[in-house]
Amino acid sequence: MTLSISSAFDGGNIRLLNIADTRIDLEIVKDNQSEFHQWFYFRLSGAAGKPVELRLTNCGDAAYPLGWQNYRACMSYDREEWRRVESDYADGVLTIRVTPALNSVWFAYFAPYTMERHHDLIAEVAAHPAVRHRSLGQTLDGQELDYLRIGEGPVQVWLYARQHPGETMAEYWIEGALEKLLDEADPVSRQLLDKASFHIVPNMNPDGSRRGHLRTNAAGVNLNREWHDPKPERSPEVLYVRDEMDRTGVDFAIDVHGDEAIPANFLAGFEGIPSWTEEQGALYRRFSNELVKRSPDFQTKRGYEVVKPGKANLSMSTAQVAERFGAVSMTLEMPFKDNDDLPDPEQGWSPDRSRLLARSCLDALHAIIEDLAIKALEKRR
Ligand code: ZN
Repeated sequence: MTLSISSAFDGGNIRLLNIADTRIDLEIVKDNQSEFHQWFYFRLSGAAGKPVELRLTNCGDAAYPLGWQNYRACMSYDREEWRRVESDYADGVLTIRVTPALNSVWFAYFAPYTMERHHDLIAEVAAHPAVRHRSLGQTLDGQELDYLRIGEGPVQVWLYARQHPGETMAEYWIEGALEKLLDEADPVSRQLLDKASFHIVPNMNPDGSRRGHLRTNAAGVNLNREWHDPKPERSPEVLYVRDEMDRTGVDFAIDVHGDEAIPANFLAGFEGIPSWTEEQGALYRRFSNELVKRSPDFQTKRGYEVVKPGKANLSMSTAQVAERFGAVSMTLEMPFKDNDDLPDPEQGWSPDRSRLLARSCLDALHAIIEDLAIKALEKRR
């Protein structure tokens, strides 16, 4: 049996360069009309019992070369359970050495979250009596941009994920948030749904997701640089969501992402917006402190540099939403690698841990929801 490589499926990404015996040279394909590349997802066939060397040869000029240091690729036989496999990075090449037990095995940058899985999630959640679902509009590839609304409270909470489609952990996080919010026995969720209305966009970038992109939509546009001026022909996804936010208002928002390089979970806030107030900043810090208390997987020591006063980038959603609505707004970054403070040698950072972190985020939100409600009342007076 000869070895073969394929990626012609939902979210797939790889280009085969050469197979020489059991050494396979590969290349990650760039996002359409863009230079970004880092996401890979492919199937290896015919390798049962053979020691194989998979070489991803164009990692040196990937979007985040630091992402390959101490990184281990994900491998699965059933595409449900993803385990880490030994991977070496040197001279721009990521080398994965494995001897697969079966003739069909999948490899990915992180556990994939396909559009098929997205449709399964939407179909399941939309049938729940507490959920109102609709499409906000269609993407450039003609896919629906799904939006879920839960609860009737006065605090307007927005949770949205996967502006960067390769950051699949973000949609697993949304799954965890939905599981908790729709658990009728959960006292935290019962109170949250009384105090707040949740507006949830599980996947901001369906086209990039299906195409196997790292960072951009079908037109090669980074959606998280469009929030000051979204255009129907280049960033309809952002336009739909921002228009809906204009209708509902926003008091609290989490934009969920993954970070390639930093082995930790962290938040980035809205410091540096023109209309910054101490009160708005204090609520953000309280949320962050509450999350530290509730999840050993969250920390505040590692993260991005805090933006200087007046220097916020209003093309990014967190800053735009904080400025536009006076909201407590933040970007949550989860690792592609692992949380080095509490590592899991088998799975690294994983879908399960992403879901659990979402639950802790809702617990932390619950701790500040009274104060958000008071602030929301003041805003609308
Ligand atoms: Zn991102």
